[in-house]
Amino acid sequence: MKMIDMKKRVTWTGKTQCDACGFDTKHEEGDGVLYDAQDQLTDTWGVFCSQCFRELGCRVGTGLGQKYRWDGEEWIKVAG
Ligand SMILES: [Zn+2]
Repeated sequence: MKMIDMKKRVTWTGKTQCDACGFDTKHEEGDGVLYDAQDQLTDTWGVFCSQCFRELGCRVGTGLGQKYRWDGEEWIKVAG
């Protein structure tokens, strides 16, 4: 099990709008999750909401994508 080291935490400070559907992941109706990931079809990196992340077949991991969760103040990297 991987613990989140608060001293080494990584945050996302870039855009929060999904590159695929345009949904703002910071919207209150969202699930508070943002992905910075590589679209496996086009090889381009982008910001994706959970739904597009799944639909595009993106993955989390080194060189693939990162998952961030909104904690009310910041986007904290939780995986990838
Ligand atoms: Zn989307």
